[in-house]
Amino acid sequence: MKYVILMGAPGAGKGTQARLLQEALNLPQVASGDLFRHNLKNQTELGRLAQSYMDKGELVPDDVTIAMIRERLSISDCVNGAILDGFPRTLSQAVALDALLAEFNGRICAVPFIRVETDVLVARLLKRAEIEGRADDNEETIQNRMTVYHRQTAPLIDYYREKGVLVEIDGDQPIEQVQQELLHAIECAAE
Ligand code: AMP
Repeated sequence: MKYVILMGAPGAGKGTQARLLQEALNLPQVASGDLFRHNLKNQTELGRLAQSYMDKGELVPDDVTIAMIRERLSISDCVNGAILDGFPRTLSQAVALDALLAEFNGRICAVPFIRVETDVLVARLLKRAEIEGRADDNEETIQNRMTVYHRQTAPLIDYYREKGVLVEIDGDQPIEQVQQELLHAIECAAE
């Protein structure tokens, strides 16, 4: 089982790139934000719990997030692995993922970090707000998501760098160019 973990701040293009990678790598995209939004739409208990955090741009607590991902990765379409988008976002999620992959006999084959400057990210998110109307794409929440990213998620870059799996990609390029560089960086997954 092969796992690709897409790292990058909100607005870096993880979702767009993960969707494109699915076919090339023949692995499903597993996006924690999409899973929460799906639960929210269906008004499940998990959705109701997640909403209060999502509305503020805060992270949903680790225990429920990890349980949700464990369940998703156990579904049969993930039999060969997955492209993780938006998870892990904290050190304890990363440690829990390591344990989960050990249990599944899986391995992380690459952690591409899509790097984009903060002012470009904020402009992109505001534009996405206009197009998609996502509830958490307003200016106040965007600022908080950036703060939360720098405080809680950015340390994972060093975590994966130390494991020797991090690959930096310049995310301030056309979508197709970023995709090409990603595919090149994730060669092991295509084997
Ligand atoms: P995203 O679509 O990835 O930007 O996620 C939207 C929101 O869902 C985030 O601002 C968080 O509130 C929540 N969320 C998504 N992924 C995680 C995660 N791995 N840990 C905690 N909260 C998450």
